[in-house]
Amino acid sequence: MQLEGAIPQLPFRVLVIVAHPDDIEFGVAGSVANWTDAGAEVTYCIITDGGAGSNEPGADLAALVETRRQEQIAAAEIVGVKDVRFLGYKDGVLQPTLELRKDLTRLIREIRPQRVVIMDPTTILVQGEGFDYINHPDHRAAGEAALYAVFPSAGTRPIFMDLLEAGYEPHNVDELYMTIAGKANLAVDVTDQFERKIKSLLMHKSQLGEDVRQMIEMWDMETGKEVGVKYAESFRVMRFNQSPALPANAADGSESSGSIEADAALENQPTHEPVSSS
Ligand SMILES: [Zn+2]
Repeated sequence: MQLEGAIPQLPFRVLVIVAHPDDIEFGVAGSVANWTDAGAEVTYCIITDGGAGSNEPGADLAALVETRRQEQIAAAEIVGVKDVRFLGYKDGVLQPTLELRKDLTRLIREIRPQRVVIMDPTTILVQGEGFDYINHPDHRAAGEAALYAVFPSAGTRPIFMDLLEAGYEPHNVDELYMTIAGKANLAVDVTDQFERKIKSLLMHKSQLGEDVRQMIEMWDMETGKEVGVKYAESFRVMRFNQSPALPANAADGSESSGSIEADAALENQPTHEPVSSS
């Protein structure tokens, strides 16, 4: 796993798409705090209304939806995010429909982010030291719809012609970050942001209490250990529109970058210009 580098250039826009109010705060909010501190503009998109967030018989679910909306806005504010979009889909029964993909395509074309963060749609089961759980189907549905909004829908002119007619020009995303990912390949050092992350998470008062801190500490320390920092969040990252022949990629992807082969490979590559144009 690699450690994330600095944001490439400003202005830098990030769109984070998740299923529920509080999904971002568990695994992404520390990274978001880093990005907004570095000058990035971050937008949150919460697909469902959070109305299944109570198992109490007779709970006032309409009131809960409004409470969770306010909690999410407060949580976003703590890590420097002022733009929070709620799509209002019904919580607990989300499907990766064309309607949802179109809503997300519209948002991507409006915001025009370089980086989009989604929930890994390939994660069905999550197992680790001392915890086993079934990934929520809403997470996978949100991830799948967002994945295919990123590609091919956002960048392809003839898909969703009515969006085009309404002025939403195609847009290509550079980087896809996936959270709750089985094959994480990138860690973001959130050591300096950890207290802010916890504070942000604890804004979801209707869902959780102080005891959540211990769990997050354990998760983020485990990830941190892999890259030599105290606390980290991990993502499976895909980068598009980059030259496959860039020597840095060959070295970065290898565990044995100090080996003779890797060194030789580096020496045989031009070091200034990409070999092929994109
Ligand atoms: Zn969730």
